[in-house]
Amino acid sequence: MTMMTLEQITDNARRMQDAVIEAAIHAGRDPATVRLLAATKVNDVQRVQAAIAAGIRLCGENRVQELMEKLALNAYAGAEIHFIGHLQRNKAKQVVGRVGLIHSVASRELAEVLNRLAGEQGITQDILLEVNIGAEESKSGLSPEETMDMAAFLPELSNLRLRGLMAIPPVVENNGSNRRFFAKMYALAVDIGAKKYDNVTMDCLSMGMSNDFVDAIAEGATIVRLGSAIFGPRS
Ligand SMILES: *Cc1c(COP(=O)(O)O)cnc(C)c1O
Repeated sequence: MTMMTLEQITDNARRMQDAVIEAAIHAGRDPATVRLLAATKVNDVQRVQAAIAAGIRLCGENRVQELMEKLALNAYAGAEIHFIGHLQRNKAKQVVGRVGLIHSVASRELAEVLNRLAGEQGITQDILLEVNIGAEESKSGLSPEETMDMAAFLPELSNLRLRGLMAIPPVVENNGSNRRFFAKMYALAVDIGAKKYDNVTMDCLSMGMSNDFVDAIAEGATIVRLGSAIFGPRS
């Protein structure tokens, strides 16, 4: 498989920014309410910087070690960085305070560790709860019921601020079948927001990837996470 050239990454990044704006307008939404996150895994500094030079303002990394390596090389300079992958408790210390948002909090134990670490740094760490919206055995993430319970518990963790929800729904083909999962995510976020808990704002809905971001935007996504649409297929 041939790797995308830097020129192709530049083109793709521009095209996908336009596509996200177009999808928002098509959905009757203000394009400023939808952010494009470039999922940068396996892409080196040069390639990440090509995307940023083309206007990308938000990157997401999903492995702690890769995040640390690229931070040391200033790979994300010019953009904000979020953590979007599975996070183990023993690696949480490397992430807290280094990223603007952790998308993938899926256990009370992890939330407690993050809260303690944020407290030690004297900061408030923004997080999302990861929802296993397709109820898949193979995936991490909370059930909708567990998500409601976690949201009710989070106000006790005063160094965390719950900004919303994240999901990776089941279907990888672009055939519209994830749309009902995106709609369920939106409804769940509205339900939690209506509780008006302290430290809970519910203004972020991170859902939609290269193959289904248009449907996700139609159902209320505020962050879409695009990898292969910008950087090409991963081998
Ligand atoms: C890789 C990745 C993406 C992007 O996936 P594509 O299908 O390549 O757009 C989105 N979210 C997470 C959590 C990822 O790890």
